[in-house]
Amino acid sequence: MAAAKNVLRLPPLPTTRDLIRLYRLRALRQLSQNFLLDERITDKIVRAAGNIKNHFVCEVGPGPGSITRSIIRKAPRRLIVVEKDPRFIPTLELLQEACKDRVEMDIEINDIRSYNFEVGFQDSPKHNWCDEPPPINLIGNLPFSVSTNLIIRWLNAISKKESAWSFGRTTMTLTFQKEVVERMIAPVTHKQRCRLSVMCQLWCDVQHKFTIPGKAFVPKPDVDVGVVTLIPLKEPLVKLPFELVEKVLRHIFNMRQKASRRGGERLFPEELRDELAFKLFHFADVDPTARPFEVTTEEFARLCYAYKTLCEENPEIVGFDHRMPKKKNVLITAAAATATT
Ligand code: SAM
Repeated sequence: MAAAKNVLRLPPLPTTRDLIRLYRLRALRQLSQNFLLDERITDKIVRAAGNIKNHFVCEVGPGPGSITRSIIRKAPRRLIVVEKDPRFIPTLELLQEACKDRVEMDIEINDIRSYNFEVGFQDSPKHNWCDEPPPINLIGNLPFSVSTNLIIRWLNAISKKESAWSFGRTTMTLTFQKEVVERMIAPVTHKQRCRLSVMCQLWCDVQHKFTIPGKAFVPKPDVDVGVVTLIPLKEPLVKLPFELVEKVLRHIFNMRQKASRRGGERLFPEELRDELAFKLFHFADVDPTARPFEVTTEEFARLCYAYKTLCEENPEIVGFDHRMPKKKNVLITAAAATATT
């Protein structure tokens, strides 16, 4: 009985499948459109987000609105749906009208990457970072084409406590290709361990909730899909600029099968390479012969701190990029050295 109280009944509506047919909503490959039409699955995704009653929810890429219906039934206070494809306006407006007395629903035709969460969630209370997460949830069956890029952007925002994370530890319930999920959660020594694994685990508690078989989508993608929750850590394992962390990880993982020292060396100009690479691993107390996937997340955090110390001691290395021609690097490192004197 208690569970039923938390469920909001929508008036009778045509099914999402019927609406797709009625409005001739052919899935567009360039927008990674694969629709979920099974209510049991969309309900399960929303359940993975926990209790969202009276919460502020942003759904990414609602498409024709099947997950949107599952969210509305859980009675959030405000639901913002951000969809790039305007063809879905009529189906989304139908849901907006159906829930108007109970849920404040906003339809934003926009690219999620430029949506301003601070405006969308402005009526939500702000929580201290170490308190319980604020009553805000990001939920979405993400378009494959933007999902990895989006999570990197959001980790960046989490590290800076800005955007949706200026309200506290806003939680996410999102889908990714199964292979991306395996990379996100891969522990040390796992064959899928990569830069994305470390980035996610430095800032978030990442949990794989369940897998949706590809055949549940219309059209069917070539891969299965995993549902993941990400909750920002109260104490991130690293408190350094995102760009610095990203740079260190990118270099070290660039040579995945080689000793970590090999990739780490590339952080430094040739003439300082041996000396500073030695110091990097020595200061961090990390085995330089370990391959990148054998390095723990905590050890990567220490490598980032060691790199920061080396940058402070050698300002000329800050802007160094081994992919750039030597001449350009000389100019950049000279400018960095002057800026700090
Ligand atoms: N939520 C629907 C479902 O589960 O049936 C549709 C999911 S479909 C995988 C991804 C949706 O994201 C599509 O509706 C697509 O148009 C939309 N989309 C693609 N790129 C987007 C972007 N950059 N910003 C917002 N929405 C986007």
